[in-house]
Amino acid sequence: MERSLTTNPTFFGDVARQMELGPRVEELLRTPRRELRVQVPIERDDGTVVSFRGFLVQHDSSRGPMKGGVRCTRNLSGADVGELASLMTWKNALLNLPFGGSACGIAVEPRLLSLHEWERLIRAFVHRIHDVIGPQRDVYGPDMNTGGQVMAWMMDEYSKLHGHTPAVVTGKPIELYGTHGHRAAGGRGVALVTASVLAQDGTQLEGTSVAVQGFGQVGRAAALALFQKGAKIVAVSDSRGGIFRADGLHIPSLIEHKSGTGRVAGFPGADSLTQSDLLALDVNVLLPAATGGVLHRGNAQDVRARWVIEAANAPVTVEADAALRERGVTVVPDILANGGGAAVSYLEWVQNQQQHRWSEERVLSELDTLLNTAVQTVLEVSRNKQVPLRTAAYMVAVGRVGRATVLRGL
Ligand code: NAD
Repeated sequence: MERSLTTNPTFFGDVARQMELGPRVEELLRTPRRELRVQVPIERDDGTVVSFRGFLVQHDSSRGPMKGGVRCTRNLSGADVGELASLMTWKNALLNLPFGGSACGIAVEPRLLSLHEWERLIRAFVHRIHDVIGPQRDVYGPDMNTGGQVMAWMMDEYSKLHGHTPAVVTGKPIELYGTHGHRAAGGRGVALVTASVLAQDGTQLEGTSVAVQGFGQVGRAAALALFQKGAKIVAVSDSRGGIFRADGLHIPSLIEHKSGTGRVAGFPGADSLTQSDLLALDVNVLLPAATGGVLHRGNAQDVRARWVIEAANAPVTVEADAALRERGVTVVPDILANGGGAAVSYLEWVQNQQQHRWSEERVLSELDTLLNTAVQTVLEVSRNKQVPLRTAAYMVAVGRVGRATVLRGL
């Protein structure tokens, strides 16, 4: 059966065999260190009690404290969190950050809670996991439906239990030990990676047509960064619908429109578009930035873009990946394409440890160095070994984690 959400265990398995890691190391790299399932009861505003299911998976710590995202979506499962955790191991290793990988989250639709209920849930979740996380154990940042406010609550609750500890989470607001550049980092990373990969094939980002699926933290930042670099964003969607404008959408105005109305639909001067039409648009670049598994066996043959940049985590299933490759579409893997978020999280963690704040200029320059090094390494391995970008990225990441694992010993 086709895997519907995250698919990196299969990508990992393929690469592990190609690299001839052997069953011993492969088993060590595949097996998570810890899997936790918790129940998180909260009192609702009307006095009733409701319990939510939470998950935490610590995949690998051979290269340092683990680091991952907090995801809160209605149908979140332990398997989703486990696959995200291993994806974070490979992403952090590819960027050469001194981190292992992890993920956690709650199966909840936050929009159905009041603000106070939401805060109580996040704080109660911290009580369930606080003894296995920490700045030198397992550090968290935002993922789907979590952002600066959630990180602030998590930091505050953890600090009540362990003393002042800003470095336990990243993606915090700037007023509360956050870093300059955090908001823009994901988008900056996507734009930098996209520009480098296109340049390989002699194509400039300027004037290139782009369709963006998803207009949340990642999609918005990516669309804005690409727009600012001169790309023509012709289509954008969110969960409530899509819009299209052949001449290109003015992204800063679209961001304002979305903040005001809660959706991209209805943006003046744009036509409406279905989700499936967006994925099949005749554009140069398709940027899935919403969620996992959106390009699958059933629709991969409809893709007309030349490049698919995985701004979301695992938007392309294993089957779709193979189908796209056969048709000559270049897929830029998530662990490279959306590495900007992970990289700036690391820089925030470093500043928190130093009790110091760097200038925006310094943060962005360090960020660009981390990302450029990763991109150039992947492009070189891909060229030298004649393998797709995803295989090259996994080879670099798995090789680093594998060596650290072997050096540490069992
Ligand atoms: P988000 O919750 O802020 O935004 C998700 C967006 O996708 C929203 O606009 C939503 O309306 C839209 N959406 C959801 N389902 C859709 C569908 N089927 N079709 C079209 N639009 C849809 O989430 P985010 O933080 O931007 O995360 C998006 C993806 O990026 C996830 O895969 C996440 O794991 C990954 N990611 C997030 C970060 C981060 O720092 N937030 C970093 C790296 C990767």
